[in-house]
Amino acid sequence: MMEKSRRSFLKVAGIAAIGLGASPAINFASSDSRGTAHAVKSKNKEALHARRWGMVIDTGKITDEIAKSVSKACHKAHNVPDFNIKVDEKKYPHTRPVNHKQEVKWIWEEHFDNAFPDKEDEFLAEKFHGLPFLVTCNHCKHAPCVRACPTQATFKREDGIVMMDYHRCIGCRFCMAACPFGSRSFNFRDPRPFIKKISPNYPTRTKGVVEKCDFCAERLAKGKLPHCVGASKGAIVVGDLEDPKSEIRGLLNEHYTIRRKQSLGTEPSVYYIM
Ligand code: SF4
Ligand code: SF4
Ligand code: SF4
Repeated sequence: MMEKSRRSFLKVAGIAAIGLGASPAINFASSDSRGTAHAVKSKNKEALHARRWGMVIDTGKITDEIAKSVSKACHKAHNVPDFNIKVDEKKYPHTRPVNHKQEVKWIWEEHFDNAFPDKEDEFLAEKFHGLPFLVTCNHCKHAPCVRACPTQATFKREDGIVMMDYHRCIGCRFCMAACPFGSRSFNFRDPRPFIKKISPNYPTRTKGVVEKCDFCAERLAKGKLPHCVGASKGAIVVGDLEDPKSEIRGLLNEHYTIRRKQSLGTEPSVYYIM
């Protein structure tokens, strides 16, 4: 099972690497049987490219229902475990009882004051309390998680996406301590019994590995937009922050936007229209 998962991962990693034709420098690492990392250079014409990928979330368009379907679409496609499901005991007879505090999440709802603790004031709070705010990895320009990772299992692509190489992760959780947004989850246990239906299109993870949003790199490589964009009914837009003519830059010009914990200087690539 472990070997199968590793093979699937390397296949996806290969696709992700192919999707970086616009900047064919070192973009992804694959591993041989000894775990040695190799740079992969490749071009793929169908892939979507950006000099720096970014995301704009229109908070006014996010309803509870949309937030849930966005989260569901992302988690289902990426084999994110749900510890609330009933485990198939025949398939996984030795699964221990669930500790519901052990959550794994890539995109989820937060209250305004948790998402934007530095923006909390009595009037803002009144306006935004009770509204769902979707939070995920911010693919920070100056990502502290990248600097903290001793194995380069967390690394930054040239197009701004902060990626994980699950195969290289040793589970030290330095990246989790370094991320000021709580965007990363740790697999305290084997997540696979808690995946309702395993998607063959994305690798599953193992116990002791960290995971997070990968900006749907595997979809961008195939010329497709992230799952959350499709499920958001127009509330989430992704695009090239470095391209002044991109839709995302148009939205940033037209609307007042904020980012999470801007004062920390990590330069998040996820913006919120208020
Ligand atoms: S949000 Fe956290 S995990 Fe994502 S790039 Fe920034 S520091 Fe890293
Ligand atoms: S837990 Fe994994 S990704 Fe995070 S710092 Fe350690 S090796 Fe890197
Ligand atoms: S970009 Fe992809 S991985 Fe990230 S939150 Fe959206 S659907 Fe999930």
